[in-house]
Amino acid sequence: MAKRGVIIVAGGSGRRMQSAIPKQFLLLGGMPVVARTINTFSEAMPGAEIVVVLPKEDIEMWRNLVARFDVAVHRCVAGGKERFHSVKCGLEALSPEVEYVAVHDGVRALVSKRVIIRTMLDAERSGASIPVMEVADSYRRVTVEGSEIVPRTELRIVQTPQIFDATLLRKAYEQEFDTEFTDDASVVERLGHKISLVEGERTNLKLTTPDDLSWAEWWLEQESNA
Ligand code: C5P
Repeated sequence: MAKRGVIIVAGGSGRRMQSAIPKQFLLLGGMPVVARTINTFSEAMPGAEIVVVLPKEDIEMWRNLVARFDVAVHRCVAGGKERFHSVKCGLEALSPEVEYVAVHDGVRALVSKRVIIRTMLDAERSGASIPVMEVADSYRRVTVEGSEIVPRTELRIVQTPQIFDATLLRKAYEQEFDTEFTDDASVVERLGHKISLVEGERTNLKLTTPDDLSWAEWWLEQESNA
């Protein structure tokens, strides 16, 4: 089986959560958000190398947290200014033998094993695969004249994990940073490589605000009672 690597990016400051502790370390169902994410990847991709990217100033706190919870084996590295730079730090920390790399937002702690495996299988076929969702709302593009409708059948919400052939991803991250690089697919696509889409899940949300976390607590409770 191909050797797999996982980069969990949690290097942001998480200011929108309005808490003293960055959102990636808050407890969800009695477990730090990022710890839950690490454990789901460890179960979905047994034997994969897991690298967690954290703000430099939080690594010490993270080590103390890990000692108190049951967290799967992983390595920690310090992140960079933008998500792009944090992924780059993660890539440098993975061993050269890794053949496929999954990049995941640490705050998407409700990601399911199903989505991880579905994306992985598709990446082994296509070289670059991401989970997406159809949109339920209507969207308008703001123009100089006013605004115009954007047909929602043409739109998809992009999630993570985004999984790539490792050689392709390493080459993509040699490019200079561009503000249009908001995810890994946009970086890989700039090389001219097609991105394959698989079905994501509504629950695979970025937990960004205090409301998101309350909702996630409720969701986990429903899951454990199901
Ligand atoms: O900022 P944004 O919501 O796009 O962050 C998505 C993910 O990227 C989060 O998990 C965040 O912690 C991570 N990130 C990072 N390094 C940064 C900025 C964001 O690892 N400099």
